[in-house]
Amino acid sequence: MHCLTRATLVLQSGCRRYTAVTCLNGVRILSRGFRNSGYNKQRGQPSNGATSGSTGDNDLYDVIISGGGMVGTAMACSLGFDPNLEGKKVLLLEAGHKKVIDKVPETYSTRVSSISPGSATLLSGIGAWEHILHMRCKPFKRMQVWDACSDAMITFEKDNFEDEMGYVVENDVVIAALTRQLESLSDQVKVQYRSRVVKYTWPRPFQAPDAIPWVQVELASGQKLQTKLLIGADGPNSMVRSEAGIPTVKWNYNQSAVVAVLSLSEPTENNVAWQRFLPTGPIAMLPLSDNESSLVWSTSHQHAEELLGLDDETFLDAINSAFVSLPWSNENHSELLETAGTLFRSALSFLMPSGTSARQLPPSVSGIGPNSRAMFPLGMGHASEYMRHRVALIGDAAHRVHPLAGQGVNLGFGDVACLTRLLSQAAFDGKDVGSTQHLLEYETERQRHNLPMMAAIDLMKRLYSTNTAPLVLLRTLGLQATNAVPPVKEQIIAFASK
Ligand SMILES: Cc1cc2nc3c(=O)[nH]c(=O)nc-3n(C[C@H](O)[C@H](O)[C@H](O)COP(=O)(O)OP(=O)(O)OC[C@H]3O[C@@H](n4cnc5c(N)ncnc54)[C@H](O)[C@@H]3O)c2cc1C
Repeated sequence: MHCLTRATLVLQSGCRRYTAVTCLNGVRILSRGFRNSGYNKQRGQPSNGATSGSTGDNDLYDVIISGGGMVGTAMACSLGFDPNLEGKKVLLLEAGHKKVIDKVPETYSTRVSSISPGSATLLSGIGAWEHILHMRCKPFKRMQVWDACSDAMITFEKDNFEDEMGYVVENDVVIAALTRQLESLSDQVKVQYRSRVVKYTWPRPFQAPDAIPWVQVELASGQKLQTKLLIGADGPNSMVRSEAGIPTVKWNYNQSAVVAVLSLSEPTENNVAWQRFLPTGPIAMLPLSDNESSLVWSTSHQHAEELLGLDDETFLDAINSAFVSLPWSNENHSELLETAGTLFRSALSFLMPSGTSARQLPPSVSGIGPNSRAMFPLGMGHASEYMRHRVALIGDAAHRVHPLAGQGVNLGFGDVACLTRLLSQAAFDGKDVGSTQHLLEYETERQRHNLPMMAAIDLMKRLYSTNTAPLVLLRTLGLQATNAVPPVKEQIIAFASK
């Protein structure tokens, strides 16, 4: 069995630091201790015997962020703009090159993210949202999620239909907007591109002759730096996480996501995000403009490869048919399910007339952007700890989720907001930014938010990966009931919007 609850139990038995009971409404920390990996058991010192040449104080930073993807770059901006952290030396290290956009390209990028209102607020607070609006961004006002194996569906929209449910933004646009803001912070935040970290040496804070008070960072160029706090934002295969010996629960879904930019058959208001659960995985279409949308089709690796190999016309037929026609085939649809679903829906519409809404069909697609088809393997991962002495993990380095709920980078932006607030408070109180107390608070607060979200996403992925009749019936009734009870939907929207 692979589920988050089990994962937590594995962590309890195999690792070190705390015993946690994970449940859908939070994490209860029962005890803490140290684990025999990377750090010495009693004192939080490294046990690998590694030494490092000392570096001059000139290379000492208050904070080094390793990894300048969307989350690491947002972290650098967020620290740079915080008034309590003024005067702190912050460095962002990114292995890749600088991403700027002087003129928005005509064609859309295939890598896009649905950005929640909470993330938009964070980006707005650090001045990047204005650049995003100025470049390119498409708000959506409704989400429709439905099952290919039954009539069940759920729709989400705000009470006031004028309010946005979220925004679809190209990842390159997010990074370019944040990069522009970083340029305005050049006094506070230094950025080094094409700077791959190849080695971390952990602090030995006690009276040993080879004591090292700070985290030491070595780049591929040979440059050596040191920092009071290292923030690992280096993605799902995080080197910070693995070098620090932080245990991680992870598994592959044996699925890949096929992404592409699609042209609609005719222009529409295009303000709905569509997702349909097929037994092979969810297919989603996110609006980009009045006549273009972004495809994310999660399916088996083999099917994904087949989809990439199809000629354009057959590929478009496959997409149109996956959104519309499959459920009515005998293979996926049984009379029993149809009858049970219909009866239940009728009962709900009688009891909660305001809670049910009609299913709409997504627009059909008739074109595909040049060279826009690509596939990405999907997996799930969670670091059992988000901190060590002078180290914190954020973004995909700490947690990686299936894209079906469009939450990955939003969880990362939530980490950024939380860690900035706690570091700001520590600086205001005159405390060491790398000290354990506020990093522990960060870990507890974020795990309380992230774990239930990850558990829910993983459960949905598993529940919808089957066409076994009892499970289909269960999810049909569950989805219809959730759809019919507005307060429940509002709670879901509020949680996912953070
Ligand atoms: C198909 C697909 C669709 C998705 N859709 C959505 C969505 O709609 N909404 C959503 O919220 N999320 C979505 N996600 C998830 C989202 O893309 C990720 O959560 C997000 O990109 C993670 O950002 P990050 O900055 O944490 O990590 P990354 O983007 O992986 O960035 C890590 C950075 O660290 C750098 N780095 C790595 N190692 C080193 C090193 N040793 N030294 C220096 N630099 C280093 C890398 O160069 C990279 O720039 C989707 C994911 C996929 C695959």
